[in-house]
Parts: sequence; structure tokens; C-alpha cells
Amino acid sequence: MSTMQHTDVLIIGAGPSGSSAAALLRQKGYQVTIIEKQHFPRFSIGESLLPQSMVFLEEAGLLDTVREHVEQFAFQFKNGAAFLKGKQRSFYDFREKFTDGPGTTWQVRRANFDHLLAQQAENYGAEIRFGHEVIDVNVEPEHPLLTVKDEQQNVYQIQGKFLLDASGFGRILPKFLELESPSDFPVRRAVFTHIEDGILDDPDFDREKILISVHAKDPRAWYWLIPFADGRSSFGVVAEQDFFEKYGFDGSAEQDLEALFKRILADEESLSQVLRNAQFDTPVRTLVGYSANVKHLADRNYALLGNAGEFLDPVFSSGVTIALKSSSLAIPLVDQVLQGQPVNWMEQYEKPLRSGIQVFRAYVESWYSGEFQDVVFSKNQDEKIRRMVSSLLAGYAWDSSNPIHKNAKKRLSTLAEYCREPASLETDLSGV
Ligand SMILES: Cc1cc2nc3c(=O)[nH]c(=O)nc-3n(C[C@H](O)[C@H](O)[C@H](O)COP(=O)(O)OP(=O)(O)OC[C@H]3O[C@@H](n4cnc5c(N)ncnc54)[C@H](O)[C@@H]3O)c2cc1C
Repeated sequence: MSTMQHTDVLIIGAGPSGSSAAALLRQKGYQVTIIEKQHFPRFSIGESLLPQSMVFLEEAGLLDTVREHVEQFAFQFKNGAAFLKGKQRSFYDFREKFTDGPGTTWQVRRANFDHLLAQQAENYGAEIRFGHEVIDVNVEPEHPLLTVKDEQQNVYQIQGKFLLDASGFGRILPKFLELESPSDFPVRRAVFTHIEDGILDDPDFDREKILISVHAKDPRAWYWLIPFADGRSSFGVVAEQDFFEKYGFDGSAEQDLEALFKRILADEESLSQVLRNAQFDTPVRTLVGYSANVKHLADRNYALLGNAGEFLDPVFSSGVTIALKSSSLAIPLVDQVLQGQPVNWMEQYEKPLRSGIQVFRAYVESWYSGEFQDVVFSKNQDEKIRRMVSSLLAGYAWDSSNPIHKNAKKRLSTLAEYCREPASLETDLSGV
């Protein structure tokens, strides 16, 4: 093994959380080394951004490069979310919202988007070692230590004054430090692909919105359709395991996932109509059990960013926004640590980050219990309340001035009750 290498801040993973953390650290002049096991551009699922993420991209100096490549990579302008359930349709326009801030964003191919962020972090002076994999971690010394293997199978060690785990579903620190804690969501599976969507001049279809469709017979299952600007879309379905088994999913490597996906789509008449000319031309993939949690998000010499910490559920497209928010919160604190100042990671990082995650969580739970679906498809939505809901769907989950931020779960229940039976209920919505 070669001699020990040193850097100021070590980052595992060059996804959105790792690259944005690196860009922010470079603004403060620190030496940054990212260890990334893949080569970019590489596929990643998660193409629908939320307007709140624009604030964090700008802060990290990463927004301009995305904007400059919108046409080249057919990133799709996005201004809201549309919902479909049988004959019922509904939508939220993110520009009509309670919280100030951007109301639009893009739907992006993550291979290109993540590559752009990583390239910009490199332009700012971060070193990214693509094709290098972290194989061991030691946070016992004052300066944490990574053991890394490159593609020639050379193994070396590198030490940083601070370590950031941005390894996403790799979840390196949770695994090595035994920080994993079970998610309280049931295990769900996603089956997805990219398609030539064939949607031409359909007056009922708006490319500028993600389309979330509820399965006709099982409201626990839903489909996403995330259009890009070139006639292609990301398309997926999410449900619990028993749902897929009913359609013949057997978990074998030989399973024809495309045939499975088409059988599931055929059961959703309205969505099948939207996609009547679609061509499946890309291998269908599947992921299971992606919801995850950890015992704590930081300690004196390390912090977990993005999905390496917690991942909820894809339904409200919150993943990249949470990843970028985690970097935005963590980097000023890393700066403090490196300047020898005390940091209370629980109070200054974990609690503020989780306050927004808890709001997303309330929405996710309410979606799967059916309550939030009732709100979304209700004709009885008060305009003021629509704007508050729209803010949260646009990702402004950390805006504590939004009345439905506090006690989100209880307030969503009240709202669902009101939306179901507005006339027969004397529900007090003044505090909502
Ligand atoms: C089905 C599904 C749909 C989703 N849809 C959306 C959506 O529409 N919108 C949205 O915002 N989010 C969505 N997400 C979530 C989103 O993809 C993630 O939240 C986001 O990618 C998190 O970014 P990250 O930087 O934390 O991790 P990642 O983007 O996963 O990056 C982690 C990086 O770490 C690297 N790495 C891992 N292990 C190692 C190792 N040992 N050594 C070195 N490098 C390593 C990986 O190669 C990877 O490049 C979805 C997720 C799922 C499962």
C-alpha cells in the first residue's frame, strides 16, 4: 500500500449532494477530493426536480451550467404537477404558491445533469477521482481515513480533516459505522424505463408538468410520467411487492420486466390512452426497498448528505432537493469545524434538515393512506390552501411560515376531511 494522502475535505460520491458540497467548499477555498466509483455520465433515476432546488443550485454556483445546457440535453421546463385517477384530473401550478421563490424548474436526464454538476465542481477546483471505490472507512482518528481501490486494483489510503458521505444508495457510512435504522415505510418496488412517449398534440397532456397517475384498482400503486423536451419520457410504476406479484412478478433474473410493465399499464385505461403511441425501446429496470433511515446524520468529523442519510419515497420528487439542501446546511458547519469553532451537529444540522424531511414524510404517508389523494382530486379546494399545498409540492418544505408546515400530518388529515365533505363539516381551516 502506498503512503498516506491528505486533503481538507473528503467526499464519497459525485451525485448532486457530493458535487454541490464540493462547489460550496471550493467557494470557501478548501481542498476537496471526491471519490466516485463510477464514470460519468452514468444513469441515475430521479429526473423531476422541484423549484426549491433552484435556490440551492444557485447558491452553489451550479445553476448557470444547467441553464446553459437546457437545449443540448433536452431538459424540460417544468411548472407543476398533474394528477390522474380514472377520469379525474387535477394539477398544481407551482408558480401559484404561498412561499416566495422560484416556481419553475426542469425535468432532467440525470446522467447529463449529474455530469454537469460534477464538471462544474471540477471547474471550481475540486478533484474527482472517477472509477475509484471506497472499500473501508475509519472515523476513529481525528482526521477520518478512507481506503480506496482504483480500477487497476491498486489500494490506497486518503485522510481528510472532515468526511462527507454523499454515496446515495451506496450508504457507505451507514453500513461501515452501523448507523442504519429501518425505514418506517413498507417495502416498495419501482419498475421504470425511458420511452419514446409518442404524445403529440394531446390537449389533455401538459409536458411542463410531471404526471402522477393512480392505479385504477389499487390506489397504493401509482405511475410517474416525466417528459423531457425531445419526445421522450421517464416512466415508472411504484407499489408494494404483492401488487407486482399479482401481475406475475417472480423476482427471477429471467423475468421479462417490459412485459410486466406493459401488463400493469394496460390496467390503467386513462394513462394507456395518453401513452397509446409510446415505444418501449430501453431496458426496463427495477429497484426495491430504497426507503432508508439512519440513527444520526453527523458526528464531530463526518456528516451524511442526501440519500446516504435518509430516503423517503419518490412520489413527490423530493430526493434531489433534500440532497442539495443537506449540502447547503452542512457546508457552513464544516467550515466552522475546520476553523476550530464548535458545532452542535444535532441542533445546527440534523434538526433543521429533518424539519423539512418530516413535512415531506407527512405528505408521503398521507398519499399512501389515500387522504392526500382525496385532497388532490377534490373540487373543493380553497384557493389559499391550494397555494400552501402548492408550496410544499414545489419543495418549500422548510418554510415554517407556511401554516401547513407545522403539524403537517394533522393538518393534512383535516384538509382531507374538509375536501371530502365541505358542506357537512364545520371544520376550522383558519389555522391551516
Ligand atoms: C424510483 C425512484 C425515483 C426517484 N425519482 C426522483 C425524482 O423524480 N426527483 C428527485 O429529486 N429524486 C428522485 N429520486 C431520488 C433521487 O434519485 C436521489 O434522491 C438523488 O439521486 C440523491 O442524490 P445523492 O447525491 O444523495 O446520491 P446519488 O445521486 O445516488 O449519488 C451517489 C454517488 O455515490 C457513488 N458511490 C456509491 N458508493 C460508492 C463507493 N463505495 N465509492 C465511491 N463512490 C460511491 C455512486 O456511484 C453515485 O454516483 C428517486 C429515487 C427512486 C428510487
